[in-house]
Parts: sequence; structure tokens; C-alpha cells
Amino acid sequence: FYSSCRLMANRQNLGLIDGQWVSAQSGKTFPVLNPVDSSPIERVPDMDATDTRLAIDAAAKSFKTFRKTLAKERSELLRSWYNLMVKHAEDLAKILTQENGKSLNESRAEVKYGNSFIEWFAEEARRINGEILQAPFKNRELFLLRQPVGVAGFITPWNFPHAMITRKAGAALVAGCTCVVKPSEDTPLTALAIAQLAEEAGFPAGAINVVTTSLENSIGVGQELCTNPKVRVLSFTGSTAVGKILYKQCAPSMKRLNLELGGNAPYIVFESANVDLAVNGAMSSKFRNTGQTCVSANRFFVHSKLYDEFVSKFITKIASDIRLGDGSKEENTHGPLIKESQLKIINSLVDDAREKGATIHCGGKHLPDIGPLFYAPTVITDVTKEMEIYAREIFGPVAVIHKFHDEEEVLQKANDTPVGLAGYFYSNDISQIFRVARDLEVGMIGINEGLISCTEAAFGGVKESGIGREGSSHGIDEYVDIKYVCIGNI
Ligand code: ADP
Repeated sequence: FYSSCRLMANRQNLGLIDGQWVSAQSGKTFPVLNPVDSSPIERVPDMDATDTRLAIDAAAKSFKTFRKTLAKERSELLRSWYNLMVKHAEDLAKILTQENGKSLNESRAEVKYGNSFIEWFAEEARRINGEILQAPFKNRELFLLRQPVGVAGFITPWNFPHAMITRKAGAALVAGCTCVVKPSEDTPLTALAIAQLAEEAGFPAGAINVVTTSLENSIGVGQELCTNPKVRVLSFTGSTAVGKILYKQCAPSMKRLNLELGGNAPYIVFESANVDLAVNGAMSSKFRNTGQTCVSANRFFVHSKLYDEFVSKFITKIASDIRLGDGSKEENTHGPLIKESQLKIINSLVDDAREKGATIHCGGKHLPDIGPLFYAPTVITDVTKEMEIYAREIFGPVAVIHKFHDEEEVLQKANDTPVGLAGYFYSNDISQIFRVARDLEVGMIGINEGLISCTEAAFGGVKESGIGREGSSHGIDEYVDIKYVCIGNI
């Protein structure tokens, strides 16, 4: 399946440094596993801080010339890259399913979403303009230049192996930055495939470098990306815990930071909501990518008047719509969890809730007969504060549903968390829609809609969910410095 991808036909799996496909200096490799049965797919270089330094040097050298390219030239490079990724979309989706486990349809959707960032930034390239200011003195002219920050380091996760790279790389490259990408140890093959297409699109050597690493080496590679003074901006998508480590590590060299971290999304169904719409939205918001997304609905709050209807329709829909299995087979809608450590967390959260008296309406169990990492879609109610699952990001196919009685009470509960990434609510009361949209402490809100991410919108969180925005025209700001220029005595 994997080796049948035309995209992978002509090359071994190697890292990309300074336009060369290379092994780790140490010669070490590590296996990439298919989560559907934990079988090895390929081995890739296990690069460390030494390799990372070489990649940073290459990016810094390339930046000297890349920063001077015309916006139109960068736009054309991105456009060529986009066209190649569209041409190879089906191969990219197959590679993605193989290493991540999500169904082919979900992979196709991710590839489309990921590609859209490159198209978007190709279009935005021509609008990275400076400003001319009104000077407070007659003999002066003041203006602001917008210039690329420098080398960008990216540390990306396994849940969206394609889109989390293109969302960062598109913005950085269009601004004139060069980059070093450290993909997740679980999903480096997608990163290598899209880098191969970037090379084919004509990006100069060193503009995009990919350092593949095992989990053990990720710490050293991360340290190098955070502490090397040649890296001027670090962009990370992943857990809040790791984000905090990177934030600290970046302080001594005062890097720009873009952090897209964990969420704990409330999903509120108010009294005036259309229940069927809310159930449909819940299916995609909760179960897309087997619940492993940072914007997944994590805490359902349903008004007491609709509660029984919502719970019963949701359970029925889960039974009829979800088919677990090998994502490479078209008939399967959902795949496994990514790895053993995730399965352990889900198992322990659900077991803890069960022992402390929660009601498990469906699922609640590991399904080893399908594959070692499959977990049944689960609905839990009667969850209390004493249960571990009450407050934490679940990152799996487990829906926790609470009952509420009024708006004030539910807003207080929804905001009672240190993070604030996405939030969703269903309502047909126009005043309530504005009130709640203003008062939910999150960076992104879906109203009567469970899937809201797109390249045109600004993605990002508040509180401990991160710093900065990706996508939209604001995404470029992370990679641009404003330089004030004053011409006097004219
Ligand atoms: P998740 O919990 O979703 O796996 P992580 O935050 O652990 O998310 O991982 C996201 C990315 O961060 C991956 O590329 C991983 O290799 C990397 N990573 C994990 N720990 C560290 C660390 N200490 N320093 C740098 N990168 C890390």
C-alpha cells in the first residue's frame, strides 16, 4: 500500500538538510509504525542536536538570499508547491493514513485543508505591505517596513501531520523566512513527502529542512531549536506541557514564539437549539481523528430540557455512523488511537470514572480484536469533579455529557479551566448567541457548527492554549518584524 505510492517510488526515507537527502550523522534510524497493527512501515534517520545545528546553519545561509526574493517569486514557488500537492493528494492521503491511522476520507480532508494553506499564502504574498505614517514634524518622512524575522523552527504533532506543517511553513516562507521542521516521531513520512514536493517546486536549498527524530532525541533537537541564536522564531503545535518547556527554553535567546497548545472545548446545547443539528455537530467535533484533535469537543453541556433527547440521539448516531477499522479500507470511518501511551490514558480515565460511579452509555472499552490501539466510541454521564476525566483534555473518542439549567451556570463551568482554544454552542436565541460568543473564554467559536477550521480564519487560543495565530492574514505576522524608518531633514 505505502510503497505503491508513486510519490515514494524514487527515494529512500532520508532527512532533508541544505537541499540534500541525508542520514543522521550518527547513522542511527528509528521505525515508523502503522497504528492499525503496530507493524513497522519504514525506518527514518534518528537525527540529533548535531544534525539540527547543520539544518539551522543551512537555513541561516539560505535566508541571506531568500529574504531578498520578490514577493511574487515566493508566491510562484508556493503556487507550484500547492499544484504538486494537489496532483499528489491521493498519495499524500495514503501515506498519512498509513502512519497516523485516520481513515482515508479523513486523510483526504486533511490534505485538502493542509494544501489550502499553501494556496492561501501564495495569494497573500502580494499583500505583505509596509506603512507610511503621518509625521509629527514637517521635515520628516516616517515609514514601517515589514521584514522576515529569520530562521523559523517548527515542532509539529502527529494528529495533523500534513496541515500542521503547511500552516506554519506557508506563512514563514511567504514572509521570506527559511525553516527547519521537526515532525513528530510518529508521523515523519508525511513531512518528508511534502518536503520532496517542495524541492520539486523549486525552493532553494536550505529554505526547507526536515530533521526526523525519535522521541528520545526530540528533547535534544527541541533544545537546539530553542537555544540556537540563529533561530529567530519558534512555532510549536502540541501539548501545553511541552509548550511550557519550549517557552522557557526560548527565553534566553528572546525568540518570537507561536504556540498552539491543548484545549478543553466546551460544547453547549442551549434550550432553543436544534437537537439534530447539535448531534451531527457533536459527531464530527468529538470523533474526527478518533477524538485526537486539540479543538475536539471535550465537555458537553446540554440543557436539562433537551438532555435525554440529545443523549439518546447521540448514542444512536454513534452506533449507526461509526465503523472502526483499518483506515486504508474505504468502508471504515474511524481508525485507532495513535499509540500505546494514548490508549493507556483513555483506559485509565474511563476506568477511573466508572469506579467512581459514572454511567457508561456505550463503549468504555479497548477493542483488541480490531487492532491493538482501537477504543470503542464512548458516552459517559454522571461525571463529577472527583473524577479525573472531569477537568482534563481527553484526546480520544470519549464524550462526557453534563446537564445544566441556566446560561450563567454553564458559562461559569465552561470558563472554569486554565486553557481556552475552541468552544461550541447551539442556540437559536440571537441575543444569547452574541452574549455567549462574547463571554466564552476561547480563541475560536463554532455556533451551530461543529467543524470550523479553515485557512481564511485565524486559528489560536487564549489563556494556556497558546500564543499567536495561524492561518488568515494574521498568520504571517508571526514571521514578520516591523522596522520603523525615519528620514529627517528632508
Ligand atoms: P502529544 O502529547 O500530542 O504527543 P507532544 O507535545 O508530546 O504532543 O508532541 C508534539 C511534538 O513535540 C512532537 O513533535 C514531539 O516530538 C515534540 N516533543 C515532545 N517533547 C518534547 C520536548 N521535550 N522538546 C521538544 N519537543 C518535544
